Amino acid sequence: MGSIIRFFRSIQAKIIIIYVTLILIAMQLIGVYFNNTLENYFKSELIDTNKKQAILLGQFVERTMVSDPQDPKKLYSDLSEVVSSLFVLSNTEIEIIDERGVVISATATSEQSPLNRKNTTPEVTRTLQGIKVSERIFIDENGKRKMIITQPIGTGIRPIGVVYIVASMQEMYSTMNTINRILLTGTALALGLTALLGIILSSTITKPIKEITKGATAIAEGDFTEPVKVYGQDEISQLGHTFNFMMNSLKDALAMNEEEREKLSSVLTNMNDGVIAADEQGRVIVMNRRAQQILGIAEETNSVMHIAATLGITSEDIKKHAVGKNQVMMIEIDNEEEERITVRVTFTPILRRGDETGMIAVLQDVTVQEKLEQGRKDFVANVSHELRTPLTTIKSYLEALTDGAMEDPALAQRFLGVTRNETERMIRLVTDLLHLSRLDSKQAVIVKEHVEVSEMLDELVDRFSFQLRQRHIRITSKVDPKLGAVEIDRDKIDQVLDNLVSNSIKYTGDEGIITASAYIIDEHWMGISITDTGMGIPKKDLSRIFERFYRVDKARSRNMGGTGLGLSIAREIVRAHGGAISLESELNQGTKVTFTLPLESKAGEVN
Ligand code: ATP
Ligand code: MG
Repeated sequence: MGSIIRFFRSIQAKIIIIYVTLILIAMQLIGVYFNNTLENYFKSELIDTNKKQAILLGQFVERTMVSDPQDPKKLYSDLSEVVSSLFVLSNTEIEIIDERGVVISATATSEQSPLNRKNTTPEVTRTLQGIKVSERIFIDENGKRKMIITQPIGTGIRPIGVVYIVASMQEMYSTMNTINRILLTGTALALGLTALLGIILSSTITKPIKEITKGATAIAEGDFTEPVKVYGQDEISQLGHTFNFMMNSLKDALAMNEEEREKLSSVLTNMNDGVIAADEQGRVIVMNRRAQQILGIAEETNSVMHIAATLGITSEDIKKHAVGKNQVMMIEIDNEEEERITVRVTFTPILRRGDETGMIAVLQDVTVQEKLEQGRKDFVANVSHELRTPLTTIKSYLEALTDGAMEDPALAQRFLGVTRNETERMIRLVTDLLHLSRLDSKQAVIVKEHVEVSEMLDELVDRFSFQLRQRHIRITSKVDPKLGAVEIDRDKIDQVLDNLVSNSIKYTGDEGIITASAYIIDEHWMGISITDTGMGIPKKDLSRIFERFYRVDKARSRNMGGTGLGLSIAREIVRAHGGAISLESELNQGTKVTFTLPLESKAGEVN
């Protein structure tokens, strides 16, 4: 049903219907005109023939009547003969009527012969009166069409009789019917042919249109492979050509677009900064891999997210920062490794003809920079603080001296001793800082020499023997016998060892035990560790122990003359040798500091 309706809506059907209707109307008009003309022609022909017969008959009757009026019997029989033969010839009923209106001769058609009866037909009456009468068509009792033709006999004003003819029109109509049937058949044939021609003709129009429609559908579905087939040179084929041209342009444009997108996406993927693009409502539409990494978002997230929620800030924050150009905001994020990272977010609105249609947020992980910045600030604060303490002490002692303590030589001696101590402390601090800064800026040159490890540790023990004896601390050194000489900067490594041992002494109670051991880790590395049985370091401080100025207990360390730089200097020196330093400690159990050194110095590792 649907396909039939679709067919009637098609151009093809419309063309066929138009053609057929045109032909039908034309045939109808021709038919009507033709029919009329034919009928008139046949009628006049019929009248003409019968009129001629009637005239001939009239002349004949007149002649016989005039020549032999005395013998009506003979006259009538003669007339009947002529009339009958005429009837046989032309299939008409003929009556000869005298001046009184009585039939004197007739073709015997019906059972009741009209002979000797009065013919009262108006035509006859009027003809007898000398009035000119035209022919009349009537339908007889059998439903057949007939024509009455009357012809006056005689030349006078009043006719002497009338020839009355009733001609059957049956033949004429049947002829006309035959002709009409031929016409109808012709019409039907013409219609059929037209329909067929219409189908063929319209298909030459609709086929290319269908092709183009197919092509357009394919393009809409993104298929650019098949160009539209073009037939001939007419307007539709021009359309086809134009369509193919359009398709190619579109293909090129799309390819270019695709290429641009590819470029953009590869730029986005390989960017070092995170990028998030959001639409007008703040829904995230693009997020590159780096942004996902920074924000700790799973790669395959399909759910629509709001940019504010993604960044962990409020929409108000965004509104505040997204107005104007390049608004920067710092946010803190806890990433997957539970580290707090600092991210600098730069918001840029996307404008289309002045209207904001979205925004782009560029994310930069500035944790390291921030840490460095913070470290620098802390360092300056620490240095100032560390210098201020001895300076205040010195100042107050000097004041005391000027205020009269000078008078008491013993007191003056003690006070001057304190100021000297503080000054030495300051010198130590400044020297340490200088060391560090040289190591930092790689100015400190590592001068490597042949060093026997066992000898080095023995000398270390010797250096501290007096101090250790005082504190009743025992020290032992264990050196792997296979460990011979190594290439190291003896002075600097001594500095490391001194620091570690002095730490152990400082933070180990009397009667503790310190062990210095050197061993081979593998063919490339050796290790040295200093172990003590001292107070240890709380877990929470372990991670920061190598930081500059970091001390577990600031007050006590300072009392012991510590600056908090020892371990950081040690780390820098070990690193300069290519090794690593680590510290394990258990509170109130003891501490073990280990550092590694390469067994053979690699090329290019001079400092
Ligand atoms: P400096 O070494 O400059 O004189 P310092 O000894 O205080 O000063 P570091 O050597 O860097 O500084 O040590 C940092 C901190 O680590 C110390 O203040 C101390 O609290 C802790 N520490 C270091 N070694 C030990 C140890 N063996 N036992 C217990 N705590 C220690
Ligand atoms: Mg120290």
